[in-house]
Amino acid sequence: MTAPISQGSAPITQDLVTIPRKSVPEARANLVGLTRDALRAALIGAGTPERQARMRADQLWQWIYQKGVRDFEAMTNLAKPYRAMLAENFEIRVPEIVQRQVSADGTRKYLVRIAGGHEVEVVYIPEDSRGTLCISSQVGCTLTCSFCHTGTQKLVRNLTAAEIIGQVMIARDDLGEWPAPGRAPKDETRLISNIVLMGMGEPLYNFEAVRDAMKIAMDGEGISLSRRRITLSTSGVVPEIARTAEEIGCLLAVSFHATTDEVRDRLVPINKRWNIAALLDALRAYPKLSNSERITFEYVMLKGVNDSDEDARRLVRLIRGIPAKINLIPFNEWPGAPYQRSDWARIEAFADIVYKAGYASPVRTPRGEDIMAACGQLKSATERGRKSRAQIAAESGTQTGA
Ligand code: SAH
Ligand code: SF4
Repeated sequence: MTAPISQGSAPITQDLVTIPRKSVPEARANLVGLTRDALRAALIGAGTPERQARMRADQLWQWIYQKGVRDFEAMTNLAKPYRAMLAENFEIRVPEIVQRQVSADGTRKYLVRIAGGHEVEVVYIPEDSRGTLCISSQVGCTLTCSFCHTGTQKLVRNLTAAEIIGQVMIARDDLGEWPAPGRAPKDETRLISNIVLMGMGEPLYNFEAVRDAMKIAMDGEGISLSRRRITLSTSGVVPEIARTAEEIGCLLAVSFHATTDEVRDRLVPINKRWNIAALLDALRAYPKLSNSERITFEYVMLKGVNDSDEDARRLVRLIRGIPAKINLIPFNEWPGAPYQRSDWARIEAFADIVYKAGYASPVRTPRGEDIMAACGQLKSATERGRKSRAQIAAESGTQTGA
């Protein structure tokens, strides 16, 4: 059971905490996000004898990813001079939570600052039987899906592996869930029992960093989540799909959203490069290659655009033969969005056709809408935050006559 997030007794819907920034010098190499091999090589490079390097890397790995320790001084199974050597050459650097909002439904949204002053958003969604952390892979997105607000933001940059796994580490800090030594909980009883790469960005356009970070998440001596509890969502970067199976092996979700190329070209423009037929070919091979369970087909419900009975029937025909579940996402509106959410009756009728064809068709309940944390809303909140900060600055400027 996922523990509910306490809201306290006051009937407030938001708990806005702004955490002051601290400036961190970045001269020393960061150990977070390195693969085990790279960590070993870094230690050798700093003078660790080769025959000791494997053991030292294992010890560090456990301190960093199992215990959540950030200070070399606290690593009591390492000799004092070795700890001093580490502190001189390295650091354990994670991104910084600069703001946290808690929705009335318990969803937490973190505004996270990464190097260069960029910001990404991370969302934690507690449910009865699991707790899902939705993490970002890029600042913004180069793709321009017409219903997605993140897609209207210009890409600033890819996140590093440290910044990707770091999102998990700081969410654990905030939730207070670093396990007591020797008492690693089972996946299903953890506060963060699942990770979804469904925040900002297209993960398959940042493949290596996403892979290295997810390897740490899955490592039995790292964050130690089963690969079946990690889901990567892609808009359909076809050439990287087989590679995802081979090199990561997590579950796959695909932003399908339309049943004809004509409509998908408009909604998910990457379809002009790799169309529905090419995408389905890659998806057919995925479960075999990764020995994984079903593929999740995400399908955003847009009124009068992709939500007819005919669409539902075409969808089940298209995916025939692929182990699948279909996740219907009621469109989350954002200011100026050119679409509307399908009516509830329409969503139910669509779900019914899909269900009768033999597919699970859960409708994704929008979570954290009051804090703009729902799918596809992630950009707007940051922008709104920026705007209001700018307004506040302007106002105070007027007041002081500056
Ligand atoms: N870039 C990746 C992962 C992030 S998006 C991808 O596109 O798959 C996570 C999911 O939210 C995707 O299925 C996306 O299509 C969907 N989404 C984006 N904007 C949305 C909106 N406004 N309402 C509902 N779902 C949205
Ligand atoms: Fe990028 Fe995904 Fe949004 Fe499309 S839906 S613009 S791929 S984040």
